[in-house]
Amino acid sequence: MNNKPTIAVIGAGLGGAAAGALLQKAGYPTKVYEQAPAFARLGAGIHLGPNVMKVMRRIGIEEQLNTMGSHPDYWFSRNGMTGEYQSRIPLGEFARENYGAAYITVHRGDLHELMVSTLDQDNLYFDKRLVDVDDSGDKVVMTFADGTTEEADLVIGADGVNSRLREKLLGPEAPIYSGWVAHRAIISAEKLKAYDLDFEACVKWWSEDRHMMVYFVTGDEKEYYYVTGVPEPDWNHGTSFVDSSREEMRKAFEGYHPTVQALIDCTETVTKWPLLERNPLPLWHENRLVLLGDACHPMKPHMAQGAAMAIEDAAMLVRCLEEVGAEHYQQAFELYRTNRFERASRVQQVSHDNTWLREDEDPAWVFAYDPFEVPLKQPTSQ
Ligand code: FAD
Repeated sequence: MNNKPTIAVIGAGLGGAAAGALLQKAGYPTKVYEQAPAFARLGAGIHLGPNVMKVMRRIGIEEQLNTMGSHPDYWFSRNGMTGEYQSRIPLGEFARENYGAAYITVHRGDLHELMVSTLDQDNLYFDKRLVDVDDSGDKVVMTFADGTTEEADLVIGADGVNSRLREKLLGPEAPIYSGWVAHRAIISAEKLKAYDLDFEACVKWWSEDRHMMVYFVTGDEKEYYYVTGVPEPDWNHGTSFVDSSREEMRKAFEGYHPTVQALIDCTETVTKWPLLERNPLPLWHENRLVLLGDACHPMKPHMAQGAAMAIEDAAMLVRCLEEVGAEHYQQAFELYRTNRFERASRVQQVSHDNTWLREDEDPAWVFAYDPFEVPLKQPTSQ
């Protein structure tokens, strides 16, 4: 007989998948509801720092990720025009020894597929778009776009930047367009062999107002990936991405180093994404509802830590439920908020400022963090 509360996770993105997997491992009857009709392999890369890999260890997929990913020895920052090195941040063996896990870069689709595979597949529901929640009784009643309703004791909103659950807690409010876009493209490393240039495993090319971050997304280094940050004052395409082009890339990175020009020359398809933010939310939870990840702190991706924060949130939330006892869920939710607000808000701010690792600095405050081991701060009202 299981006396743990039933939990519904809304959204099977990286934060929702992490929450679902960790809750199920801890013995909570957990169902995950995702609006998309099926899993889709988004063509993009993602950094997983040691702070995330320690959570992946708990989920049981650290070794698979170590095999799947590229292991850069350094994060290099270089002047976009001259190629001069601005920082060399040691990763590789240094990260394993000093931060407690590897620093890898992977294909986001491969990561997501692996994370979703760790969920109990009988309790994972696609094509389930939450449209409403009623939190006035002993159970939360969720209504989905297909007209069905489901109940749970607790509901976690891991439903991204346009979170329905956030809207329920705080009212409708569109995210803020930051004035920046990101171009994303995956390039076949085979094509790059035609150039007598060094394509480093993890490098960010910078100039005053824009950048291009580049890294491998597979352990065999067959797929190379870039993601940019480029100012674009207006965005009229809602929250979705649009197609971009080699010509647009050439214009945006005119005068940049030959290595960057080679990447643009080898680009086959490139997409352009609006970068959206919100100011830190005044409320992360209410009664039986709680938010995590982009639902409560969406950020520019310039620290490569947005998904990392969602995954850390998931880990801390499960830890707090275990720590306090899930029957005291409101205390657990407040303990969770107390232990995540400052860090998530700081990462949001540094991402906004786009200063991370531009010059040599000590990244330990981000990479050495372990949401399961960090000493817990108690809420001030207790
Ligand atoms: P999401 O990944 O947005 O997942 C939300 C899920 O909820 C989706 O699957 C969605 O379909 C579902 N959903 C939404 N509404 C509903 C509903 N009503 N009912 C049911 N389901 C719903 N982060 C990093 O850590 N490293 C990086 O290198 C990195 N690079 C990035 C590059 C770019 C260009 C961008 C834009 C972001 C990048 N990020 C990176 C940030 C990262 O993508 C996000 O922070 C992360 O995906 C947030 O995870 P999440 O689970 O909170 O939300």
